Amino acid sequence: MPTQQQREALRRLPAVHELLKREELAPWLERLPREWVTQAVGDAIAMNRRVILENETIQGPSMAELAAQAVDSLHRLTEPRLRPVLNGTGVVLHTNLGRAVLSEAATEAIQRVARSASNLEFRLEEGVRGSRYDHVEDLLRRLTGAEAALVVNNNAAAVFHVLQVLAKGKEVIVSRGQLVEIGGSFRVSEIMRESGGRLVEVGTTNKTRIQDYEQALTDETGMLMKVHTSNFRILGFTEEASRQQLATLAQKRNIPFFEDLGSGVLYDLKTRGIGNEPTIQECLEAGADLLSFSGDKLLGGPQAGIIVGKKSWIDRLKKNQLTRSLRVDKFTLAALEATLRHYLNPEEAVREIPTLRQILKDEGELQSAAEQLSGRIQDTVGEALQIEIVPARSEVGGGSMPGVELPTHCVAIAPRQISLTQLEYRLRQAPVPVVGRVSQDRLFLDPRTLEIDDFPQVAASFRYALQI
Ligand SMILES: *Cc1c(COP(=O)(O)O)cnc(C)c1O
Repeated sequence: MPTQQQREALRRLPAVHELLKREELAPWLERLPREWVTQAVGDAIAMNRRVILENETIQGPSMAELAAQAVDSLHRLTEPRLRPVLNGTGVVLHTNLGRAVLSEAATEAIQRVARSASNLEFRLEEGVRGSRYDHVEDLLRRLTGAEAALVVNNNAAAVFHVLQVLAKGKEVIVSRGQLVEIGGSFRVSEIMRESGGRLVEVGTTNKTRIQDYEQALTDETGMLMKVHTSNFRILGFTEEASRQQLATLAQKRNIPFFEDLGSGVLYDLKTRGIGNEPTIQECLEAGADLLSFSGDKLLGGPQAGIIVGKKSWIDRLKKNQLTRSLRVDKFTLAALEATLRHYLNPEEAVREIPTLRQILKDEGELQSAAEQLSGRIQDTVGEALQIEIVPARSEVGGGSMPGVELPTHCVAIAPRQISLTQLEYRLRQAPVPVVGRVSQDRLFLDPRTLEIDDFPQVAASFRYALQI
């Protein structure tokens, strides 16, 4: 039974049509369909009815408060849903946060082709129809040493396309140790089935020798495939057939040796002491006939699947009808071209491509950035937070370089007046959300994935979260 006070509060709740007359709602009625505004008003009233029924001593909202709630929800309805967030997780390639952040040049390239007509499929020299792939193919050939290249929507599509065009109805030999599942739902075995290729597993989880491939060869064999074990490592007693061995074997049979490289690096990070990934150039030199990798992982570009390798095989991929259904748009091509251009000068690549720059930030730089960030936040919110700088580890992420941990210095934050869960939630609700990592009862912000220019905004989002 509602109390006397609750009954009165319920009685004071206005009817929808009364609330619709408030002047705060007038601009919304002009801008949006009437049903949307009516719905927002109805929802605000219904929500307050529930709150009143759960709370015996409640006063109930004023008309102004109800109108403000309806306006709030209309704002949420009309604001962009997909928007920037500040990545304080220290995971450089965070798939849920959009993976690679593009360089300035790549972002500008997207804007230029968005604002104007372009020569997307038009050869300016001859004045005839051209191919959209030409803009990046030359660059890819030059940078990787491959004979030819093709770009599709993402690497999952690239793998699918290679299998379905070159191995449909045939056997594809893969090492058991490489039958990986990546992220959401990319499983080598399922992609294989969908593409019409027949998976032949050889070897054991930790050891596969070239003899295992040789013994599995039949008249039905259409491809030898190697898959990068992106998100895990098998340690200890392991053995794999080398690329040279696989290439030689494939050549004897006149079938392709295809490698799904996953991330694919053009800049040799191992020379800077990070990980042990062979570069794309090295994999091709070692004999891979076809290689595929993502545009938005270690390359640091837009989402894309890049296939490079022997011209005879790439030509067959290009000629297939289905290539059309995987084709990339002009924004992707513009951003990819700009990203690849940076690599013509490795120093420029490291300076301009955020993915590389973030991976290569050194401990001194990170320590000083952490101090600046902590100072900023402290100055903005004062005593509301307890802040400390602690050594920690960042990750490359995106299923790239499993096991590689990059030393960093994080700002570790414990709120004094609200709970950690509340702080973390409120930061996600801020106009510019901040996403960090919760560890040891504190919120960690890693300056590896934040830029100095972002710090004032991080502080502003903290002020919002703490309602200061
Ligand atoms: C990430 C990855 C893929 C999928 O690439 P997307 O570009 O995300 O589609 C496929 N294979 C491997 C080995 C990967 O690491």
